[in-house]
Amino acid sequence: MPSIYLDYNATTPVREAVVERMTACLAGAPGNPSSRHRYGRDAENLRETARSRVAGAAGCRPAEVVFTSGGTEADNLALRGLGSSAGPRPAHFVTAVTEHEAILQTLDALEEEGCRVTRVRVDDGGRMDPGDVAAAIGEDTVLVTIMAANNETGVLAPLAEIGRICRERGVPFHTDAVQFFGKMPFRFDELPIDLASVSSHKIGGPKGIGALLVRKGLLIRAQQTGGGQERGIRPGTENLPGIVGFGMASELAVAALSDEGARLSELRDRLEEGIRELFPGARINGEGVPRLPNTANVSFPGLDGESLLIALDLEGVAVSTGAACAAGASEPSHVLVAMGRSRAEAAGSLRFSLGSGSTRSEVEEVLKILPKVASRL
Ligand code: PLP
Repeated sequence: MPSIYLDYNATTPVREAVVERMTACLAGAPGNPSSRHRYGRDAENLRETARSRVAGAAGCRPAEVVFTSGGTEADNLALRGLGSSAGPRPAHFVTAVTEHEAILQTLDALEEEGCRVTRVRVDDGGRMDPGDVAAAIGEDTVLVTIMAANNETGVLAPLAEIGRICRERGVPFHTDAVQFFGKMPFRFDELPIDLASVSSHKIGGPKGIGALLVRKGLLIRAQQTGGGQERGIRPGTENLPGIVGFGMASELAVAALSDEGARLSELRDRLEEGIRELFPGARINGEGVPRLPNTANVSFPGLDGESLLIALDLEGVAVSTGAACAAGASEPSHVLVAMGRSRAEAAGSLRFSLGSGSTRSEVEEVLKILPKVASRL
């Protein structure tokens, strides 16, 4: 049986060089970076080298990197940290209906605490109109948060345009760049963005580590109390092996970016073309719209995505029906429903996400297996 992993948007295997670096850190750097002796200094040096690597890869200053436990925490810190440092409530947030649950559920919670939230809509390609963001901004808006790349469809947001609107209106702009960073060229210093969430395990690094990039001078309130780590914004003894691994993974992902982008979009296009030939009624969600090179989201007419996923798994092919954290839930994807798909179309969808280990022969193998399992269903 083949073993084909096409779920890189859920998580990625850790690169070998990253494992080596982390193992050396676990075995050879026992100190606490806050300690003043040499063990502490060694640990601190490792942390700062990794911070510089992440900053170099993200195009920001090292001092703008705040390490967190991952993308979810970075999103929470951005929204709550800005919401609670913005003065008297109710604070108003602007977001989009297609965001990740880490944003949507945090905003739902903030709404219950008295904040106001405007959720802009998207068209059938998953695109939002920057004009809708502009229209939603009001006197009380404390933050606009729009994801850079959608985790289910790969559809990209017009970051520069939205950022420009936010700058004109004097409102901070946060982007969840978890699926974007390391897959597309990203320079924090060249974009009108004030906050960005990034995560290590989507780019060949370990799980449980990520960062919030915070533009110099922006005030953000810590969401937990404790020591003064990460400039007091995110107290707690650092996950040093994770940070070291994240630094290395960031550097490697960005170095491979241009070659990988072209290689993956070619594989993705072949996969989509093959699927269209096999299933003439299939619909590629986000087709023709700027999107990540590695993601194909397909609605298979008359089929159930969950059953397809299980049947493919039994054949050695790992895919997803949408966001991993929503998998298992019976509700169809909120992203596809927001794009105007019927509940049946949304429930009949699969996400194929390719990555560093994906090959042409794997794609061809999947194109052989797919009609077999579909006819059984
Ligand atoms: N935001 C997006 C767009 C994601 O795809 C994910 C992970 O699926 C997250 C946030 C959460 O990141 P993490 O798994 O590091 O908490």
